[in-house]
Amino acid sequence: MSDPYLINEPALISFSGGRTSGYLLKHIIDAHGGTLPDHIKVAFANTGKEHEATLDFVRDCSTHWGVEIAWLEYATQAPHRTIIVDHATASRDGEPFDAVIRQERMLPNPIARLCTKNLKIKRLEAYARHWLGWKKWASVVGLRADEKRADREVPGRIVPLKHAGAVKADVLQWWNSQPFDLNLAVDEDGETEWGNCDLCFLFGRKKLEARLKLDPSRADWWVNQEDNAPGLRIMRDPSKAMFRSDRPSYRTMQAAVMAGQPIPKGGWNAERDCACTD
Ligand code: SF4
Repeated sequence: MSDPYLINEPALISFSGGRTSGYLLKHIIDAHGGTLPDHIKVAFANTGKEHEATLDFVRDCSTHWGVEIAWLEYATQAPHRTIIVDHATASRDGEPFDAVIRQERMLPNPIARLCTKNLKIKRLEAYARHWLGWKKWASVVGLRADEKRADREVPGRIVPLKHAGAVKADVLQWWNSQPFDLNLAVDEDGETEWGNCDLCFLFGRKKLEARLKLDPSRADWWVNQEDNAPGLRIMRDPSKAMFRSDRPSYRTMQAAVMAGQPIPKGGWNAERDCACTD
């Protein structure tokens, strides 16, 4: 069987800044003898709602492993709506995310995942096409063998972790023996406490509540977005001015947690996977 981490075609590794994507990147580097060949590039698309420790981790992977990681952000006025930033200049208060909401004039929601599309997928595409000059490439994604999403065949997508049979426990165990790590705790379900956008609307109730309890002030940005949403294109009806119409507003959830109450139960539809990898 061929090495699942060996890649022989132009490929862009989507580096999300989590332990899984770090594991994936290092295994690909090692499979190529310790240095990525020119036909494999790495990019991190920053939403501005990542935890500071995630940004540090992206920088650390780059320096420890001697690999160039392009930091990409959405910017409405920039050519191809994409700018290249770095650890020092990366947005830290949701600016790219806010810019997408203003441009699209609506909040993302579970059906219209404007954030994943504009903050991540399109930025990686723009980088490959306009910075690297590629016409055709494979997108390498850190989906593990224990993630259902890895089973879906997507043209042009490569999922080495799935083919290697790597699961969450493998990733966590491997990081235990590395000289550096992501400085974010892992919860009882093996999930990184602040992985992906801090209070992603796709998280389930338990995960959102746990994060809100750790730092309720992180809801401020999400509360502001919902407060301002009635001015947006299809959000003039205040009942729709939320990231999720099937659950309480961020203001309600934040207030409940700050009052030492559980966040209200009723009306939570089935939980969906966050569309972004960790
Ligand atoms: S983590 Fe959630 S909020 Fe952030 S870009 Fe992905 S889907 Fe959107």
